[in-house]
Amino acid sequence: MDFHLDTLLNLPDISVFTCYRQEDFTFLDLHFLNPKVKCKYCQYSTDNIHQERPILVRDLSICGQAVYLKISRRQIYCPFCKKYSTESLDFVEQGRNYTKRYENYIYERVKELTVEQVSYHEQLSAEQVKNIFSRIAQRKKKDWSNPERLSLDEFSKEKGKRQFVTVVSDLDRSSLLEVIDSHKSDEIIQVLKAQPQAMRDNVKEVSVDMWGGFQKVVKETFPNALIVIDRFHVMQLVNQALNKIRLLLEFKGLRNRCLLLKNGENLNREEQEELQILLNQSPCLGIAYELKEELRNIYETSTTVKMGFRKLQKWLVYARCLFGQTAETIEKHIQAICHYFINRTTSGVMEGLNTKIKLIIRQSYGFNTFESLREKLLACLF
Ligand SMILES: [Zn+2]
Repeated sequence: MDFHLDTLLNLPDISVFTCYRQEDFTFLDLHFLNPKVKCKYCQYSTDNIHQERPILVRDLSICGQAVYLKISRRQIYCPFCKKYSTESLDFVEQGRNYTKRYENYIYERVKELTVEQVSYHEQLSAEQVKNIFSRIAQRKKKDWSNPERLSLDEFSKEKGKRQFVTVVSDLDRSSLLEVIDSHKSDEIIQVLKAQPQAMRDNVKEVSVDMWGGFQKVVKETFPNALIVIDRFHVMQLVNQALNKIRLLLEFKGLRNRCLLLKNGENLNREEQEELQILLNQSPCLGIAYELKEELRNIYETSTTVKMGFRKLQKWLVYARCLFGQTAETIEKHIQAICHYFINRTTSGVMEGLNTKIKLIIRQSYGFNTFESLREKLLACLF
């Protein structure tokens, strides 16, 4: 019996009988201080042990050394229940080879690192790490707790590939609520309808891009929500149109692109002068640039839906000539675009969250199924 090791081990009613090393591992041979075992059905307790079966349980490392606990699984025969009953242990779940605290530790590690890294450091297989993580993740599942403003967005699974996942986030809490392995409206609807109706009815606004599929999703799953086309997606579309004109007019180079697309008010004096020289070379490019800046101005200065709507319609008269298809798209969605002016709802606040989502997707090569990627995203960002 070693009291110092007992203190270190910190498990109630258990003492370290002996401690030895074998290969890369430290083994702690434990024994129970309480000679009696309770029947798990009726709580009757007896010291008449029917049989003992030794098991090995992985625990937290001590002094950088991987630790296995050697414990006896004690079984009794209960004369009242007329059944055999195996002792239940507080620190390890039935049928598991890891202590609860070790499983929680692995879960936290996977949130920070990749499965491969954790597997390497802990001398566990990738499968073991994934299994532990998934168990704890399942248990920690939380509910959405009545969000009022949501955002629906898509992310590509691999950079440059057109395979998307749909991401649902809570705009007020800047947290991730759900990740769906699809970019088809019917499949998204199916997943979202698993959430309680009352909670979905309570959603007041949903911010989306101009993809028609999302609007269908919102109408069917959040029937009382206002659809708001995200301001940044509209600006992005116009920036793309402006950039196309730049390329058509053969003003090549990254510098030109940067000068044109940057917010006018963020340019320093030198950049402003450079931009002016560029715009002077082509009236067409000049007008396209002014239109882009004017749209940004409309967003900044309109205070009501009506005001925004009026200004946007006026803007469209000129935009149609230069931006063609882009202007048509904006016109088609003008109502939902103008809903922005009610609460100025935008997914812009999600930028930090989106960066983390992308990072985790990129890091998660160890998770080869979508479900494990989803579990990791929700574990880290819910
Ligand atoms: Zn019993």
